[in-house]
Amino acid sequence: MTGKLSVVIPVYNERRTLRAIVARVQSVTLPVEKEIICVDDCSTDGTTEILRELADTYPNLRAFFQPANRGKGAALREGFKHATGDYVIVQDADLEYDPEDYRQMLTPLLEGKADVVYGSRFMGGQPHRVLYFWHSMGNWLLTLLSNMVSDLNLTDMETCYKAFRREVIQAIPLEQDRFGFEPEITIKVARRRLRVYEVGISYYGRTYEEGKKIGWKDGVKALWCIAKYGLTVPYAPRPETEQYLPPGVQMDEPNPR
Ligand code: UDP
Ligand code: MG
Repeated sequence: MTGKLSVVIPVYNERRTLRAIVARVQSVTLPVEKEIICVDDCSTDGTTEILRELADTYPNLRAFFQPANRGKGAALREGFKHATGDYVIVQDADLEYDPEDYRQMLTPLLEGKADVVYGSRFMGGQPHRVLYFWHSMGNWLLTLLSNMVSDLNLTDMETCYKAFRREVIQAIPLEQDRFGFEPEITIKVARRRLRVYEVGISYYGRTYEEGKKIGWKDGVKALWCIAKYGLTVPYAPRPETEQYLPPGVQMDEPNPR
């Protein structure tokens, strides 16, 4: 097997699903090796003990512990720092997303076509749970505004499934501690003119009773982040070479510059 995928899992009070999600990640068959990096965001419900036990059980799982509850973005920053794979994917610790979708997510990266791949819950023919109309309108609006400032035509900016070449994610300075991570990374990726792909994924949304934590205040924060990063993140110069061509493919004649 050539190559390795680092699965980064932020974990806050997920004692009911942590074992199950780790088992599902472990059981996916991929053309690359896997390492799992769990970052416990100072859980208070017994998750921490479960995570220690998992780290003892699986040689490819490493656990890190945040000194205070700082949010998903901060936990991800910690996790990205420790990633050693060629590719990095974000995995929530609930069971809303299906690790079987990693295969599709990885394809554009393995083929050398993409720097970043987003898994969209709103495209393609995968099953997704029907839930919360106003929540979905919020999602749609945030994706629209993020697309307007980033000039990307994503269908699901807020998706958890974001995969990156490791060098790419480790080179982007990030500062949002909570759910502002999603617009922050999206705009920074766009301004760097990285090659972004989207693939359809399935979605088994959970209800707030089932443990969902994101709320309307996070939506307001996301709006603020779109404005902030839209106004402040500089554009990288356009690439000199034909960035969209996979390695080994050449044009008969290069574009005039
Ligand atoms: N999370 C975290 N710190 C927090 C809140 C959430 O690390 O303060 C983790 C949580 O355990 C989950 C992920 O971030 O793995 C996303 O949280 P959630 O599923 O509640 O958000 P949503 O699916 O609504 O985006
Ligand atoms: Mg979730």
